Amino acid sequence: MRDSRLDPLFSAATSLPGVGPKVAKALARLLPDAPDTGPRVIDVLTHAPSGAIDRRARPTISELVPGEVATVEVQVERHQPPRSTRAPYRVVVADATGAMTLVFFRANAAYIEKLLPFGETRWVSGAPELFDGAFQMVHPSHVLDAAGLAKLPPVEPTYPLVEGLTHGLVSKLARAALERVPELPEWQDPAFLAARDFPAFREALDALHRPRRPQDVAADGPALTRLAYDELLANQLALRLVRAQMRRGAGRSTKGDGGLSRKIEAALPFALTGAQTRALEAIRADLAAEQRMLRLLQGDVGSGKTVVALLAAATVVEARRQAALMAPTEILARQHLATLEPLASAAGVRVALLTGREKGRERAELLMRLEDGGIDLLVGTHALFQDDVVFHDLALAIVDEQHKFGVRQRLALAQKGVAVDVLVMTATPIPRTLVLTAFGDMDHSALDEKPPGRTPIDTRLVSLERLEETIGAIGRAMEKGARVYWVCPLVEQSETLDVAAAEDRFGALSEVFPGRVGLVHGRMKGAEKDAAVERFVSGETPILVATTVIEVGVNVPEATVMVIEHAERFGLAQLHQLRGRVGRGVGRSTCLLLWKGPLGETAKARLETLRDTEDGFVIAEKDLELRGEGEVLGARQSGAAVFRLARMEVHGELARIAHDDAGLILSRDPHLTGERGEALRLLLHLFERDAAVRLLRAG
Ligand code: ADP
Ligand code: MG
Repeated sequence: MRDSRLDPLFSAATSLPGVGPKVAKALARLLPDAPDTGPRVIDVLTHAPSGAIDRRARPTISELVPGEVATVEVQVERHQPPRSTRAPYRVVVADATGAMTLVFFRANAAYIEKLLPFGETRWVSGAPELFDGAFQMVHPSHVLDAAGLAKLPPVEPTYPLVEGLTHGLVSKLARAALERVPELPEWQDPAFLAARDFPAFREALDALHRPRRPQDVAADGPALTRLAYDELLANQLALRLVRAQMRRGAGRSTKGDGGLSRKIEAALPFALTGAQTRALEAIRADLAAEQRMLRLLQGDVGSGKTVVALLAAATVVEARRQAALMAPTEILARQHLATLEPLASAAGVRVALLTGREKGRERAELLMRLEDGGIDLLVGTHALFQDDVVFHDLALAIVDEQHKFGVRQRLALAQKGVAVDVLVMTATPIPRTLVLTAFGDMDHSALDEKPPGRTPIDTRLVSLERLEETIGAIGRAMEKGARVYWVCPLVEQSETLDVAAAEDRFGALSEVFPGRVGLVHGRMKGAEKDAAVERFVSGETPILVATTVIEVGVNVPEATVMVIEHAERFGLAQLHQLRGRVGRGVGRSTCLLLWKGPLGETAKARLETLRDTEDGFVIAEKDLELRGEGEVLGARQSGAAVFRLARMEVHGELARIAHDDAGLILSRDPHLTGERGEALRLLLHLFERDAAVRLLRAG
């Protein structure tokens, strides 16, 4: 149960004055972190300004700088009502240094006369511009008398917006939301706050939404930094609590005799790389230990994680226990099965597949075999943690592409056995600082050594204006037997448009290469997708047009050309993943990044990074530098941002401090029952790490 003091913050934003159904809808679009039930007061409060307008500048007219917001004291000299309906209403104002024209389009004359009475003193605020050598201000944002001036906020926050909202409205809502913030006990160490000159929680929110100086809304200013630290600490505490929970109750030692592993290794057409061997040794040691394993296996696309997973599973099977491998999509699960099955059966390891598609008798029989121990390794999708999936003795859960799954799902799978060891695999290399924020103190192994014999991928940046040429080149490559992926981008998060773009491209390419083009996208049924991928693998349709469904894991070694349309719309990590689909076989591979100009600096830097390196870790670091952690962790795609306020590229240094701080706090007060502990529970709720608080209760 959440402390009732926090209730006002978690009530619906519609309870704020001025939020009707229309504004509520716009707010829901503005605040993607809000739950589906609609934004709440807390979501409004944690929507930080992106900047501020400083209205403290009081220059004379002669000191004005075009484009720079200023508030000027002037006398009203002359009204020039419009001569036609389309002309603006002009008012000439002046001070001792010069004159300036205020311009109002479609103005109501009576209103303007009242706003700017002839001969009176007024303060006008806005961005001046030069027009025919004289200053003018079009629709000044404020026209005030002395009383109004006294009430003008010296600094006005500006917010990221969506259609239907204005800075003024968001600011008004945020100020109303501030009124709901209760007095709460301090959860941070007072000495730490003092040393950093951090304000209290409530003051920090106040500074953010009622800034007194631009620094109050700056990402590295004290207010936002304090709040970011709160969030980072909540995150670290939650991760540690989850981990403590997973480790609670001694683990089980699972030791294999090496028999199956040796058979599998003998069946491999290659020798393991040093990195694979090291990772396996670490995993086997974890499995053998009495503690539960929680290990992250990081490795670039094509670094050979699947084999490591299989050999880890084999160790468990040698001990007559079961393993599960969970993939985020059906295509991937099937592909894993196809890769693993021949190797597994060479060693007598029984593998089966369970996805949403297995139904009826077939499914019932499979579940029975699973419960009887007739299946050693179960490969599948989310379907693996349905309630009726019961293992005989699950000892190892392997989660592929872990960032697509939440902590809760990881726990759900791990709860299907006694003290299940967990291995999570990710092909999105994650920078060191982020490993910490995303996984806490999880153990981790990196496959930082590519299997031998890979030829580098020739990556080129090509303007979309050269589309025809590109298609010509692809035709020639196809004649020589090439298989080509053609990826169409996500269109503004809309799956429908997304699919439409892919269908259009499919249509256009089919005209050039009749009968030789395939199509695969997220709206297709599982069987249709499989069929499309199969036709590609067999070479029947050597071009496969796809949406990002092929992003993760699909393995077609024959594919040697990757075309990514509108590459500038993709994240760096995503591009890297996509490119990893080629260069898997022996042939020389090419990746064409088709971009549409004009390219911003960041977009350009991003594409150039990709062209210049294939090292996933370098790319990840660069991605972090250019775009921030949400993108790097793939949060955008999975819909749930990791952080609301903290930004790794700004607050990264604090992540480490929060990590250590959380460790210290929990070593002193593991159940958060002390005075500070109670306050920290509030913090966990505030940043919605409620699951972690529930674990405290359970423990
Ligand atoms: P990942 O899952 O990390 O993207 P995979 O496990 O799919 O990579 O491996 C990519 C390809 O490399 C597969 O075809 C696999 O058989 C091959 N492979 C894996 N390990 C080695 C190795 N040590 N030497 C040569 N090829 C390897
Ligand atoms: Mg893989």
